[in-house]
Amino acid sequence: MERTAALVIRLVPWSEASYVVELFTRRFGKVEAVAKGARRAKNAFDTAMELLAVSDVVLLRKRSDALDVVAEAKLEFRFRPPGAALPNLYAAYYVAEMLHVLTEPEDAQPSLFDAAVAVLRQWRRREINPWMVFRWETAALKLLGVHPSLTHCVECGTAVVPRGRVAFGPVHGGVLCPGCRRGKRPLVTLSAPTWKAWLALAREPLQKLTSPRPLEFGSSGELRAVMNQYLAHLRGSPWRMHPLLPR
Ligand SMILES: [Zn+2]
Repeated sequence: MERTAALVIRLVPWSEASYVVELFTRRFGKVEAVAKGARRAKNAFDTAMELLAVSDVVLLRKRSDALDVVAEAKLEFRFRPPGAALPNLYAAYYVAEMLHVLTEPEDAQPSLFDAAVAVLRQWRRREINPWMVFRWETAALKLLGVHPSLTHCVECGTAVVPRGRVAFGPVHGGVLCPGCRRGKRPLVTLSAPTWKAWLALAREPLQKLTSPRPLEFGSSGELRAVMNQYLAHLRGSPWRMHPLLPR
């Protein structure tokens, strides 16, 4: 038996009464476990195994290919958007989607877990804006070691000087200098203020993760579009929640 804090990121029906829950746990990373009886209206977990619940769980850990079993789960809080606001709900689903797609099973990422819980706590209280989602994304990408290079050309390492628009190669993993951008496909360009905004977000310390403050420069719509392209490349396919995120 192992105890850990966990966020429920996916529910897959397993039998008439039970779910396989995908948990992003603080101690073990992403884990799949059977929550027996969780599909019944009245069950031992109450609401602790619902989607976007943060719970204290006790897992019966199995070796080899067998699934873990949720032995106990006690709800800490369950994400509910303020005033049933859909943008907040979609952003919260997006946190779950990112953890599902970008983390490996059994790869513990306690800082990423804490970041996810911190933003969900905030997003259930406060109307969301695009910058709050960008802060989560840049923090998650940095913690996972897959944040794109914004300051130096990914091909030759030259520091990028923003004159006019900055070229960004979603497939290449970051910005490209004028010399290296020639012939590269696909390529998108960012206005200098939007590039600066992304850089400012990427340089913010983790303690500012839950700052609700919009940046006063850069276009959130432009950044959303480039972020979507970069993440679609990382995943190898489009994201369900990207069209639903605030711009
Ligand atoms: Zn270059």
